[in-house]
Amino acid sequence: MTDSQPVDIAHLAHTLRDDNIAGVTIGWVDNNGVVRSRAVPTSELAGVARRGVGVTAVFAVFDSHDGITFAHSGLSTPSGDVRLIPVIDSESSVVSLAGQPGMAWVHGRQMAADGAPWPYDQRAVLERQVQRAADAGFEVRAGFEIEFALTRESDGLPAHRGPAYSANAMRDVDEFAVLLLESLATNGLSIGQIHAEYGGAQLEIALSPLGPMAAADAQILARQTIHTAARAVGLRASFAPLPSSSSAGNGWHLHTSLVRDGHNALTGDGEYGLSETGRSYIAGLVRELPGLVAITAPSSGSLLRRRPGYWAGAFGFWGIENREAAVRLVPSTPLLGPDHTNVELKACDASANPYLALAVTIAAGLSGVADSARLPQPVQEDVGGWDDARRDAAGISPLATTHDRQRENLLASTLVADVLGDELLGAFVACRDADAAWASSHTEDELLESLRWIY
Ligand code: GLU
Ligand code: MG
Repeated sequence: MTDSQPVDIAHLAHTLRDDNIAGVTIGWVDNNGVVRSRAVPTSELAGVARRGVGVTAVFAVFDSHDGITFAHSGLSTPSGDVRLIPVIDSESSVVSLAGQPGMAWVHGRQMAADGAPWPYDQRAVLERQVQRAADAGFEVRAGFEIEFALTRESDGLPAHRGPAYSANAMRDVDEFAVLLLESLATNGLSIGQIHAEYGGAQLEIALSPLGPMAAADAQILARQTIHTAARAVGLRASFAPLPSSSSAGNGWHLHTSLVRDGHNALTGDGEYGLSETGRSYIAGLVRELPGLVAITAPSSGSLLRRRPGYWAGAFGFWGIENREAAVRLVPSTPLLGPDHTNVELKACDASANPYLALAVTIAAGLSGVADSARLPQPVQEDVGGWDDARRDAAGISPLATTHDRQRENLLASTLVADVLGDELLGAFVACRDADAAWASSHTEDELLESLRWIY
């Protein structure tokens, strides 16, 4: 959201200092879904807003284990510096953080040292798709659901003992839940609900729908808010796609819808309660799934999470309120009203960069709209229980569960290449290759442990 008036950042910095804010953390997300950051003294904010702070150019080729790969030709040496610029387009862009007295948060964008666009900046990738949607006459609404596992810092035991979705489980984490609700509100984040999820010690919050940039920003600030609230009550939150081999996965499902002239453009009086736009939007998503999920659920942990029977989107099909489908239509009803229609992408998790995940999702849906893609029949069953012949006959394939297959799908997707651009795609693939090399020399448990706390 951009205020029409430019922000007086010197004045804002004074106000922050009057409020005893000593430093401002500038956060951004790399190609592994890891939130990287730099903090600056509040007194420096005005200068930093103009010129940014210097960070290495090779953040785009950091892998999930803090290794740096030089396999991508565009970033093949340790030389180079880019500018990390705080995005301050309104006074509320700088958030005084709940539970971290003296610190504030602002999202960052990366620019070349001379101020030119930096092709590896993920934020700009989403901005381009928001513009593309606007050019086609649409606004996009988006919201992430965030699942996480909570354990006790002292002994690593589960913070709640279930049962799934129960009040008993929530009572075990009562203090945390209250603090989290307060902290989310303080940090300007709105949620629909909080509940104990299916997995051991698992919880979920559903962020309220926003425009795409704000939705990605909110997903990042929500992580900071959850981690901080957990720490305050002696708990630790894991956002990893699969926190341990015996647990349910953590999905960060991505809900999107299109708005035209103030109305939900997916809703209509055609088949499935959809408009023609709605049907072709879903068709675009389903068509692009193999390449899409290589961005929205990209990590070695994502591949392990992608198991049939866990509602994690293991197969490439769509259904109406079918939680086993990778693409789930959440339709409007007379009770919910016509603006409720949205589409949930299950194959999305915390190891995705939220700007890239949203960018490819929007692009996939819009590509379907642009060429009036034909929507296959919805499937309302658990196709994991079908044999291969029946799935083949229905045109349903499992999504990739190996690095090689996922890499192949990624490189075969002209849509993803178009959205990311050659440079960023090259860096992204190099990161995935580096992760796969790490995984190949470690056990599955070592891999899951290495990813457990990084998101
Ligand atoms: N935990 C499941 C996942 O890995 C999702 C459960 C649900 O549908 O909420 O995505
Ligand atoms: Mg859930």
